[in-house]
Amino acid sequence: MSQKEKTSAAKNLSRVVGDAYMNLHARAAEGAFVVWIAINVPAELFLGFDNVVYGVPESHAALNAAKGVGVRQCEKAERMGYSADLCSYARIDIGSVYDGGKDSPTFGLPAPDLLVSNTNNCSLLVKWFDVHHRRMGVPHFVIDVPFCYEPQQSKDRRYIVRQFQDLIRTIEALSGQKFDYDKALCAIEHTNDGIRHWKRFLSFAEHRPSGITAFDSFVQMAPFLVARGTPQFAGHYKLLAEETENRVAKGNFPVPDERYRLFWDNIAPWHQLRDMSCSLAGLGANIVGATYTSCIGTVEGSFDLFAWDGGDPLAYCARTQNCYICPHGMKLRGASMQGVVKKLGIDGIVFASNRSCKPYSITQMDQQRRMAEDFGVPCVMIDVDHADARKYSKSSTFTRLEALLEQIEARRAALQAV
Ligand code: SF4
Repeated sequence: MSQKEKTSAAKNLSRVVGDAYMNLHARAAEGAFVVWIAINVPAELFLGFDNVVYGVPESHAALNAAKGVGVRQCEKAERMGYSADLCSYARIDIGSVYDGGKDSPTFGLPAPDLLVSNTNNCSLLVKWFDVHHRRMGVPHFVIDVPFCYEPQQSKDRRYIVRQFQDLIRTIEALSGQKFDYDKALCAIEHTNDGIRHWKRFLSFAEHRPSGITAFDSFVQMAPFLVARGTPQFAGHYKLLAEETENRVAKGNFPVPDERYRLFWDNIAPWHQLRDMSCSLAGLGANIVGATYTSCIGTVEGSFDLFAWDGGDPLAYCARTQNCYICPHGMKLRGASMQGVVKKLGIDGIVFASNRSCKPYSITQMDQQRRMAEDFGVPCVMIDVDHADARKYSKSSTFTRLEALLEQIEARRAALQAV
């Protein structure tokens, strides 16, 4: 199969995402209780109800950016008076919502009955959901998740579980529906199944040349935000892992002449995926992995799968609340990055300093110094914004990326000379 042909997993991805948005709008129109959630809120809980559906504004914003309308939506929010320094996901969402979903590839999200945010990634998100709370008069439930500078403590887990129980009671009271524990359990089984296949898919980055690019993994994240807890979710990642395995077995690689194996730190540059991956491939470079995608399905500070043990689903959801990178302290971030550099045979790290996401970017300078000075890994810092293309310059980015490749060559030459 040629690299340009759409794989079965790529076709299925479009189907899963398209169906999820259509189903969301259709069920909302038929009277389902609609919840807007932050990315980390466990969607499986909503599948414990008969007629509760959810939308994820962050994911919808990423889709807008990937489809080329991120800037247009940001500008709408800026005209309303929101600063261009705020996270571009928030600006895209606010711009899209208060323009009636115009320009959105999914016609926006159906109006919510409840907003559920959390504190584990950043405080901006709570304020952003508060904008909707004030403007729409919709209740806002905030889940407070302690940051993790070390592995989660059981008292923190109990604290989070109590909030999930409170959330369930709140939805029961507002929607008049009863929560079914077994249905939520079944949803977690599907999620767990899908995540196992996801980790298998990511493991093909260990192959030389790599069986995947980080850009593939960015694109393939979407079902985590729109279809978690469903058989479609598990089925999709099974297909993805199996198809990737077959392609590797047949010697079909995304960058066959891979000379530089790079690692990406930060959120995906949604507006640059195709351009950046093609330009890098032209230089013999492949970004084979990313903190952004490796952390899914893990617990804080590890990139290894944290599998569900079949126990209490609420405790499992609480345990995995801090899988994403933002709330991790320096130590956890450094240890996981060091581990993955070794595992994937990484030649260099691209730290993408993200104008929008301060919590992801704040420690990068220190991490860069540590990886370069303590472990001798060539690194570079580039400037991006994950969803606002106005804050990205291809020429200055590639000047720095090419300098990174030169550093890698110089290091190789120095090692050979020893
Ligand atoms: S600032 Fe970062 S963590 Fe916060 S909403 Fe934006 S992308 Fe998410």
